[in-house]
Amino acid sequence: MSDQQMLMVLAKASGFDGRHPDKAVAAAWLEAIGDLPFEDTLEAVVEHYATSTDWLKPGHLRAIVERTRAERLRSVDRMIPPADPDAADYSAQLQRMLAAVADGRTVTKALAAGARPIPAQPSAEYVAARGPDYVRRRTALAVPCPVEGCRMDVGRPCRVFGAGRRDLPTGYHPGRLEAARAVLDQEVRGT
Ligand SMILES: [Zn+2]
Repeated sequence: MSDQQMLMVLAKASGFDGRHPDKAVAAAWLEAIGDLPFEDTLEAVVEHYATSTDWLKPGHLRAIVERTRAERLRSVDRMIPPADPDAADYSAQLQRMLAAVADGRTVTKALAAGARPIPAQPSAEYVAARGPDYVRRRTALAVPCPVEGCRMDVGRPCRVFGAGRRDLPTGYHPGRLEAARAVLDQEVRGT
């Protein structure tokens, strides 16, 4: 964050608490939280005063920004793009994508430069790091969902319909995984 951006963050806070920030204050805050991304920090000021009566301090903003970024990353599994694992820069692509997700930018944008949309399996290290459920989810999403009322297309996570559309915690209906395994079975046997 620049000096100017920090002053904007403090000006935003001033709108809520009437503080009078100056360059010395901005310099001190920069030392404490200058590493945080500007836009997330600005939004964190609003979030703080929307939910708290405490006088805003740099630590509040760091806590909110870190929580926001962690929340964005928690849903990253559903956004994993079909990257080409044979590409020498696969892990670099993945890094860029994860950074973009944490920033709240879209995955498409993050991968736009030189990305090839080839459906394939990710690297063994990545699969190992994600755990067995990651493999199941990836497998299930390789076919359209056969469940009535869901029927999401290939690559799109299953959703629950009802009072509000929402994602399934696992990302797929059990029946979809069965269907995907049946297709894989056929492919393996060459039938
Ligand atoms: Zn489904």
